[in-house]
Amino acid sequence: MEYNKVTAETIEELRRIFGERNVLTEVEKIEPYSHDESGTQFKHMPEVVVKAENEDQIAQLMKLANREHIPVTPRGAGSGLAASAVPLHGGIVLAMEKMNRILEIDEVNMVAVCEPAVVTNDLCRAVADKGLFYAGYPMSVEESYIASNVVTNAGGSKVVKYGSTRSHVLGLECISPTGEKLVLGGKRRKETSGYSLLQLMIGSEGTLGIVTKVIVNLMPAPGVTVDLLVPFANFDDAVKASSNIIRTTKVYPVTMEFMDGFSVRETTEYFNLPSLPAQDKAEAYLLFTFEGKNQEELDELAEKAGTACLDMGALDVFVASTKTESEKVWKVRTSMPDCVTTKYRHMLAGDVVVPRSEVAEFIAKTQDVMKKYTGLKLTFFGHIGDGNIHPNFLDTLGEYTDEEWLKVAEQAYGEVCMLGSQLGGTVSGEHGIGLGKKTVLRQTLGEYPISLMKGIKKVFDPNSILNPDKIFDLEQ
Ligand SMILES: Cc1cc2nc3c(=O)[nH]c(=O)nc-3n(C[C@H](O)[C@H](O)[C@H](O)COP(=O)(O)OP(=O)(O)OC[C@H]3O[C@@H](n4cnc5c(N)ncnc54)[C@H](O)[C@@H]3O)c2cc1C
Repeated sequence: MEYNKVTAETIEELRRIFGERNVLTEVEKIEPYSHDESGTQFKHMPEVVVKAENEDQIAQLMKLANREHIPVTPRGAGSGLAASAVPLHGGIVLAMEKMNRILEIDEVNMVAVCEPAVVTNDLCRAVADKGLFYAGYPMSVEESYIASNVVTNAGGSKVVKYGSTRSHVLGLECISPTGEKLVLGGKRRKETSGYSLLQLMIGSEGTLGIVTKVIVNLMPAPGVTVDLLVPFANFDDAVKASSNIIRTTKVYPVTMEFMDGFSVRETTEYFNLPSLPAQDKAEAYLLFTFEGKNQEELDELAEKAGTACLDMGALDVFVASTKTESEKVWKVRTSMPDCVTTKYRHMLAGDVVVPRSEVAEFIAKTQDVMKKYTGLKLTFFGHIGDGNIHPNFLDTLGEYTDEEWLKVAEQAYGEVCMLGSQLGGTVSGEHGIGLGKKTVLRQTLGEYPISLMKGIKKVFDPNSILNPDKIFDLEQ
């Protein structure tokens, strides 16, 4: 698809809509909007960045962009790992960062109403102050925005018990790609009123509309929690234990995370963090959080799970009994993605999800397939309780050029995705498809589902203006 360039007249019009201070054109100011956390290999410079302060400006922008045939890419905090906020065809980046107010915490309906750029953990903290709980919790919770969590259907560490972001969204307000206002869902809790455009918008990666307001479900805050860190001398034992623990204990954790020994060592060294217990012997860890109504119930859950882990070959079970101990352990887990994205120039954060019963086989087959790729290190950490174990491909030797890396990473990831798909999985559990996984999505889904998605895109966005060529290529 060919697009028109942003002209001096367009910039003038953008300044009229957004105000002088909200239109950026200088290279050093727009460069940070050219990539996300997936790395610079997918970098594309925008021609101009605009910062929206209200939905009217966004509606006017979309009308202008359609008239001038200029692409628009919405952008949240830029923490995405699929390059879905990268302005592939240049054009206009629509930065949401200024629309960042929590508009309402409605304790009667148990919902929060937010502007799009509320940082997710700010919301979690604000509702916690009222004894409430928002269950969405990606590991990027301190930086990513609530609307982006919605359009990426973000997962995170609490999915095993509470589900992905989709499970918590009750309503959205959006501006359509053609500049119309859409109100989807609301504070109500049920709806069977035609096709659910609300559900379609969730996970649409900024291709079907621009979210200007989000209504999320809140719950009463859980009583008490405890974290268990369980080291295993052997990678396979940890993976097998993870598949069996819920079945054998009938205990549902809030969190069941996996960390391989390499990732733990890299992260503690790179960020100079205190070592985890048994770090010299452990090749893998499971990290659990349990919630209970009171301490007695919690102790019972921890005892049951700890004993089951020991029966399945764990080296030991460490109970983080204080907030400081918990934070120390979680700091290592939450810093892992930052370690791989900042330490290595080339990395690909894989995101395959398989049924929990297939995780062990998926990992074993993946390790097997990877043997033929020289200079490419494979590490694993992630949300093993959801079967969403992130295989991370790292150029540890730094020997690949950008071009070579893209080729080899795409090929290796393609193979891993096919393996996942054959085991009943899918190519992305939470990061989305964006730019890097388009080919493998088509290969694993087949042409017909992609053709339906293209048809939907065409209905919402007849001129292909909003975030074009993400998820699938429009003209392929
Ligand atoms: C350290 C780290 C840890 C992470 N951990 C997790 C994790 O546990 N789980 C998980 O799911 N992801 C995780 N991610 C990925 C990322 O944080 C999520 O995808 C997150 O939802 C992106 O939010 P963002 O605000 O940074 O959005 P961006 O990266 O800026 O954009 C993401 C997508 O949202 C679109 N978008 C942004 N705002 C709007 C809007 N208002 N309307 C429509 N479209 C919009 C963009 O066009 C793009 O398609 C992690 C990333 C990092 C760097």
